[in-house]
Amino acid sequence: MSKTHIAVGVAAGLAIAQTGSAESCIAAIVGGCAGGILADCDITPSRAHKDALIGRLIVVGLTLACLAIDRYASAGLCDYVLGHLGMRLVMGVGLLVMLVGMGAHTSHRSFTHSIVAMAAFCGAVWLVCEPLLPFFAAGYASHLILDVTNRQGIRLFWPMNSKVSLGLCNAKGVVNVTVMVLGIAVGALLLAYRLGPLVGFDVVLA
Ligand SMILES: [Zn+2]
Repeated sequence: MSKTHIAVGVAAGLAIAQTGSAESCIAAIVGGCAGGILADCDITPSRAHKDALIGRLIVVGLTLACLAIDRYASAGLCDYVLGHLGMRLVMGVGLLVMLVGMGAHTSHRSFTHSIVAMAAFCGAVWLVCEPLLPFFAAGYASHLILDVTNRQGIRLFWPMNSKVSLGLCNAKGVVNVTVMVLGIAVGALLLAYRLGPLVGFDVVLA
């Protein structure tokens, strides 16, 4: 479910962030949560799919909060985007809109849950904001890995029709909640570890 994908996406981003760099941590949270949920743009939010709407609102809220902190602390991410306004950004946004549109018109767990789509989305993010790329890719990969455990399976090798599934669990249930709690706990610990040196303390991860 979306909250699990967001928690694990952020944790995946923070796992590869730079210790002692606010810009890297902010990019990890923004890129990780966006990458963690974007594959599910093939779900149309509705009464029946309230989870998809809540997930999107969380990502927008988290991103705006991170960008506000980035601006306040002059961490560097907003400055990067403002310093790279131009054709490349327009092309990246255009590609993103096109891919999301394509996702919205394909069935769930097909195109957007493939290696091809992940590469295309990563290309778009590279054009829009290069510092986000490794964290976005980590978040997107975490989404595909989590969904492979689902009994429904995903079309990882789209356009081929075969579905990949480890058949371990369903989307809703105790496994989903457990992974979400673990994602939040690991993400919080990693954030404290990465930001520790900036505020004068070190978190020792054994
Ligand atoms: Zn999914």
